[in-house]
Amino acid sequence: MTVSEDVHQLVRERAGNRCEYCLCHQNYVMGRLQIDHVCPIVKGGSDTEDNLCLVCELYNQHKWTKTEATDPRTGRRVPLFDPRRQR
Ligand SMILES: [Zn+2]
Repeated sequence: MTVSEDVHQLVRERAGNRCEYCLCHQNYVMGRLQIDHVCPIVKGGSDTEDNLCLVCELYNQHKWTKTEATDPRTGRRVPLFDPRRQR
């Protein structure tokens, strides 16, 4: 990852120091919240702030490079929540 410390700080402040998926505050998660690429680099995502979000380690390890998942009710492939599109 080539995200500068300035951009890292901007993403952290924009997120209110919370995981942008489960909304847990830094004070209540194990380890330091991490920067995640909403659209992974391997799928053409960029290092710009509009593609970055703050996430907990648990979520980041589960998401990895996924951008979609199978809906357990319908069996259909659906896009994962995108915190940049919800604002
Ligand atoms: Zn989380």
